[in-house]
Amino acid sequence: MTKKTFKIAVIPGDGIGKEVMPQALRVLEAATTRFDIELELSPIEWASCDYYLAHGQMMPDDWKSRLQGQDALLFGAVGWPATVPDHISLWGSLLKFRREFDQYINLRPVRLFEGVPCPLAGRKPGDIDYLVVRENTEGEYTNLGGVMYAGTEREIVIQESVYSRFGADRVLRFAFELAQARERKHLTVATKSNGIAISMPWWDGRADAVGADYPAITVDKQHIDILSARFVLQPGRFDVVVASNLFGDILSDLGPATTGTIGLAPSANLNPERSFPSLFEPVHGSAPDIYGRNIANPVAMIWSAALMLQFLGAAEAHDAILAAIETVLREGPRTRDLGGDASTTEMGEAIARLVSQA
Ligand code: ATP
Ligand code: MG
Repeated sequence: MTKKTFKIAVIPGDGIGKEVMPQALRVLEAATTRFDIELELSPIEWASCDYYLAHGQMMPDDWKSRLQGQDALLFGAVGWPATVPDHISLWGSLLKFRREFDQYINLRPVRLFEGVPCPLAGRKPGDIDYLVVRENTEGEYTNLGGVMYAGTEREIVIQESVYSRFGADRVLRFAFELAQARERKHLTVATKSNGIAISMPWWDGRADAVGADYPAITVDKQHIDILSARFVLQPGRFDVVVASNLFGDILSDLGPATTGTIGLAPSANLNPERSFPSLFEPVHGSAPDIYGRNIANPVAMIWSAALMLQFLGAAEAHDAILAAIETVLREGPRTRDLGGDASTTEMGEAIARLVSQA
């Protein structure tokens, strides 16, 4: 059988991005020894603050054409606020990828693992296992609006939200499809139609319209306030959760926060049609406070790499990596944020070893 070859741009970025990325590559390499996949890696040193300091911009002008042929971007973390302000590093790299590659889905799995202390009392593994799907390109994040009568007692500020039928329908459809593929076939739609009286009832209507094609899915529309409370109080209610950009942004931090360390949470920025490369990155940032000590938890990065393989069609390799992560979280070695004393490298090696065996 011929191997599937995936072309991956590897972008470590800044800080601990440079420490966790080699561990993800080690695990991917282990996966190629066991599954019918091959990786063509292109290491990329731009989209980093080091590059900015040398060139005055985060990326070369022709970054888009340089990346266009890739199947996916594997991204570490960006930001080094001691030398480059965060708005420059972020807008100059990651947010350009998301926008110009039309990565309109932000997907974050939320899962409690055995061996990881849960900040919610009394929760066991299995109690928390859901996916947050955030609309990643429109909604509340716009530059439309302005300040009137600035500096006077009559000062007024307006900022518009923009939703399109095309934009809402495609993220809702993606969420329904995901729910369809899962056992529970349950979709929670985040809304606020009681208070945001124009756009949110419209969003609910789009959910009904798209949902008409998915009669097997049970749909639960929940106001964002109570939904947030239930992430904490009744996480077992959730299977797939879909939300507009702002609500999704908040939920996709709250969810992972209920499952232990930030060092575990992965994310995918997807262009599902594959017209452009999708981007896979840990939820955490560059963590300047721990950089250089080889103590960062590599799991979020490794899990993100597994999500990449799943998206590209190598489901078995994804499952094997996730199983290896489960075992190592349960049995060790564990990094400090999990109460252990293992290094980044030791944890990465342990996961890679399990992936290549099995
Ligand atoms: P962002 O770059 O998204 O703005 P941030 O800079 O606010 O994020 P992070 O860089 O994610 O925050 O760091 C937040 C805290 O979590 C820091 O104390 C950091 O040391 C810790 N942390 C982040 N990632 C990891 C990891 N992989 N392992 C252990 N600790 C981590
Ligand atoms: Mg940061």
